[in-house]
Amino acid sequence: MQRRPIVVQKFGGTSVATVDRMKKVAEIVADEKQAGNDVVVVVSAMSGETNRLIQLAEAAAEEPNPREMDCLLATGEQVSVALLAMILNERDIPARSVLGFQMGMKTDAAFTKARIVEIDRERFTRAFDEGQVLVAAGFQGIAPDGDVTTLGRGGSDTTAVAIAAGLDADFCDIYTDVDGVYTADPNLCSDARMLERISYEEMLELASAGAKVLQIRSVEMAMKYEVPVRVRSTFTRGPGTLVTKEDPSMEGIVVAGVSCDRSEARIALRQVPDVPGIAAKVFTPLSKANIVVDMIIQNTSQDGSTDLTFTVPRADLKQALKIVEGSMRAIGAVAVEPDAAIAKVSIVGVGMRSHAGVATTMFKALADEGINIKMISTSEIKISAVIEEKYAELAVRALHRAFKLGVAPAPAAKKTAPRARKRA
Ligand code: ASP
Ligand code: MG
Repeated sequence: MQRRPIVVQKFGGTSVATVDRMKKVAEIVADEKQAGNDVVVVVSAMSGETNRLIQLAEAAAEEPNPREMDCLLATGEQVSVALLAMILNERDIPARSVLGFQMGMKTDAAFTKARIVEIDRERFTRAFDEGQVLVAAGFQGIAPDGDVTTLGRGGSDTTAVAIAAGLDADFCDIYTDVDGVYTADPNLCSDARMLERISYEEMLELASAGAKVLQIRSVEMAMKYEVPVRVRSTFTRGPGTLVTKEDPSMEGIVVAGVSCDRSEARIALRQVPDVPGIAAKVFTPLSKANIVVDMIIQNTSQDGSTDLTFTVPRADLKQALKIVEGSMRAIGAVAVEPDAAIAKVSIVGVGMRSHAGVATTMFKALADEGINIKMISTSEIKISAVIEEKYAELAVRALHRAFKLGVAPAPAAKKTAPRARKRA
């Protein structure tokens, strides 16, 4: 039997911020159903709600118990699924809210950052057979022993992608308050352009470089299961940006986007003895404390010692410093210098693999603005520079201009042409 197309639609906090906005969401759901698709809707908590709950927890305890934290945080989504299901019913659309445990959203037991293990496909297909729209609570799951878990901030994106992957959905539409993925933050660059398509890898690098459209984990999962994800606006309902598999035409575009991350801080360890085992001694206690280290730079040594510089989330700086100061004595380093006022600007594009001179263009653009680079790191498709935070916006604009991102690339030539032509 031929099945109907399946579309998973996810609506973020701003899309369900009020009951009126939820009515607008119901319209979009109705249209999708009307078009003959089987629909699963995933919603976030009403905007600001998760933050409000976190504040309550912080007022209740200095270090809230993670299990109770998740029990608390999951209530945000419970409110929005119930309200949206009511609104859909009011429009004569058969719909039912489902919480994590009701949809069999099994996770591990890592409270506040749980990982999805599997979904119960059958529960969804049964609802399709009954003509029901399931309105699924994002961000929450159920641990092996039945406890409520949550998936980390922004986790509803991952809920949606996991359901889409499990159901082999035709599309996973992430509805949000922006039109799609842009070449840079349109609030910083007036000529930033919305991208029609972007590869999973580029999206992943952009997300880890500070672009906040999608939770990183959701992109990882979309890439793994090749889920076609569309980032679209609830308010303008345009076509949005398709996040998809890389294809040869993408290689012609050297840089897809510029992003900026101000959520990190830098720690420099001065005059670290250059002997085996030092890096392990510095980073092991940090990872044990669950502090994610991003960039790491070690200089060549002079007179038997070297500098070790790295970045950590700014929110973890205090804790990281305490840990590093402890290791400093143990390893015989001379000083620890923290710097919270940094920004990481990054350029991302799969075309970098096949084009030379990209880094030079980036460094020159920053130099022309008199911006000093404090750290550099690269991956195959990304170059990041750490600079003083006060220059962040200037840097993003300079890079956007240097790579001519405000100008739409010429439409891709015939299938066979682009590679040959670009190399010439
Ligand atoms: N409500 C959760 C948060 O604010 C999950 C989400 O919105 O994706 O992080
Ligand atoms: Mg979000």
